[in-house]
Amino acid sequence: MGWESIRGQDAALDLLRRDLSSGQAAGAYLFYGPDGVGKASAARLFARALQCAGEAPPCGGCAACGKVLANAHPDLVSIAPAAGSRSIKAEEIREEVIRRAHQRPNEGMRQVFIIEDAHLLTRVSQNALLKTLEEPNAATVLILVTPNLHTLLPTIISRCRRLRFQALSRADLAAILEERLGEGGADVDKLVSLSMGRLGVAMTSDVEALSERRDGAMRFLEELSAPPGRADEVTLITLASERAGSGASGRNETILFLEMLRGLLRDILITREAPEAIDLWHTDIRAALAAMGERWGSAGLTRALERVGEAMRDVDGGNTNPSLTLETLVYSLRETVPAGV
Ligand SMILES: [Zn+2]
Repeated sequence: MGWESIRGQDAALDLLRRDLSSGQAAGAYLFYGPDGVGKASAARLFARALQCAGEAPPCGGCAACGKVLANAHPDLVSIAPAAGSRSIKAEEIREEVIRRAHQRPNEGMRQVFIIEDAHLLTRVSQNALLKTLEEPNAATVLILVTPNLHTLLPTIISRCRRLRFQALSRADLAAILEERLGEGGADVDKLVSLSMGRLGVAMTSDVEALSERRDGAMRFLEELSAPPGRADEVTLITLASERAGSGASGRNETILFLEMLRGLLRDILITREAPEAIDLWHTDIRAALAAMGERWGSAGLTRALERVGEAMRDVDGGNTNPSLTLETLVYSLRETVPAGV
C-alpha cells in the first residue's frame, strides 16, 4: 500500500513526495478538507515514509515500514482524545508530545506525531502545542488532521505547512467503492451521490439511511423555497428538528443534516450556474434541484450556503444549542428566498 492507495489527492501527495525527496520535511503539517477523503490515511502513509529506510519511501518492505504498519513503531505516536472524552486535553499534549519531543528518537531518524482529530484540541492544548511549533526541531514532525480549520488558533495554522484535501470526484469515488465493495455489492452510483464524495461516509453508511437523510433535507428545502405566504416557519422548524434528533447524538445528527443541506444547495447552485462544467453529486434528482434553483436565484443560494456554513461552525464549535441554531437558521434562510417569485 503506497501512494497509489490514496486517490484524487494528487496535489497534496505531490507536495509530500517533494518534501521527502528533498529531505526538507517541515516541522508541522496540517491536513484539512472534508471527512472521509483520505486525510488520515495520507497522514499514516507520510509518517511511514518519514520512518522508512528503503529506496522509495514508503517501501513497504523494510523493518520500519513493517513496524508502522503493525502500529508498533516506537517513534510514531498517535494522539486521540482519552477514552470517554470529546477533547484532547493539555496534559495529554504535554505528556505525549512535548515531553517526548525533547527526547531523541528511539530508533528512527525522527519522531512523528499524528493528531487525527486536531479540531478536538482545547485552547489550552493548542497553546501548549505552540511551544513545540515555535521551537522546531529537525527530529520531530507533527501532523495535524482536521475537517475544519476554524477551531484552530491562527498561530497554529500559520506555523504548519498546510495541505488541502479535496472532495473526491464522482469517478474516483466510484472506482474506489467498486474496488472495496466488489461487484454486485451496494448500488455504487447511488452511494456516490448520497455520500457527496466522502469515502468514509460511503463505506460506513447504508443507502437507505442516507436516502432518508436526503429526503428529509429535500422536504425542508422544498418548503423553504415555497413562494412567500406559502412557506410555513413552524413546519420548517419541525422538519429541521425532526432531522436533528435530540440528546447526545443530537449535535452529530444536526451536523449531518446541515452537511446534506449544504451539499444540496451546492448542487442547486451548480444546476443554475455551471451544469456542464461541474459534476453534481445528486444526479438522480437533477430536475427537482433545477426547479428549486429557478425559484431561489443564484444570489439567494450563495447567501443560503453561507448561512448553512455559519450554522455548521456554530454547532461544531459546541457553543450553541443545536435546535436553537436550526431555528435561527430557518428564519435566516427564509430571507434568502426572493420575494414575489
Ligand atoms: Zn520502508
